[in-house]
Amino acid sequence: MPSPIFHSVAAVAAAAGCKKPGTSLSWPLCALLVLAANLPDLDLAPAAFLGTPTMLYHHGFTHSFGFGLLAGLLLSLVPLRRFKWRHRACLLVPVGLSHPFFDLFNSNGSLECRQFYDCGQPLAWPLLSRKWGTLYPVFGDIVLPPGILSWFSADNLRFITWESCLTVLVVAAVFAMRALVLKLRGVDPRAKYPR
Ligand SMILES: [Zn+2]
Repeated sequence: MPSPIFHSVAAVAAAAGCKKPGTSLSWPLCALLVLAANLPDLDLAPAAFLGTPTMLYHHGFTHSFGFGLLAGLLLSLVPLRRFKWRHRACLLVPVGLSHPFFDLFNSNGSLECRQFYDCGQPLAWPLLSRKWGTLYPVFGDIVLPPGILSWFSADNLRFITWESCLTVLVVAAVFAMRALVLKLRGVDPRAKYPR
């Protein structure tokens, strides 16, 4: 699965790419973005604290678009200065939906995994029990055995390094697209605009 670092950086970068020129993201908004981006992985908590196998609870209903939508809407109810509800929802709902989308590209949903286990993301829960995944995983297979300390294995660190490269690519792509859109619209990204 993508690590919390990838989910968090992708969420904040996307918000930074969407913000108006001359404005800035606030720390409370960034905290909500990080929370929305990682909330589905709360289903790892039983493995971390009870020592139960990760697969027992992971990639359950929290990895559906329905949960992402609900989480984004609920978090957007948190009042923030300078950001109206609709602005918060426009950022937090897509970020909530992004988690199950990115998790589609890990080995949990690969054909190999699905041949033997009930792998994949239940994107359409509660309407359908079917799970989805990709034939070509992009993210490494980060393994989280019982006990937090054993999460820092050599394999996991190697996959996180690969994922860091992907993270840099995503951030670069977001800012390249932002620069292109602003240029096409004739907007000066350094100009101060009224909020
Ligand atoms: Zn996940």
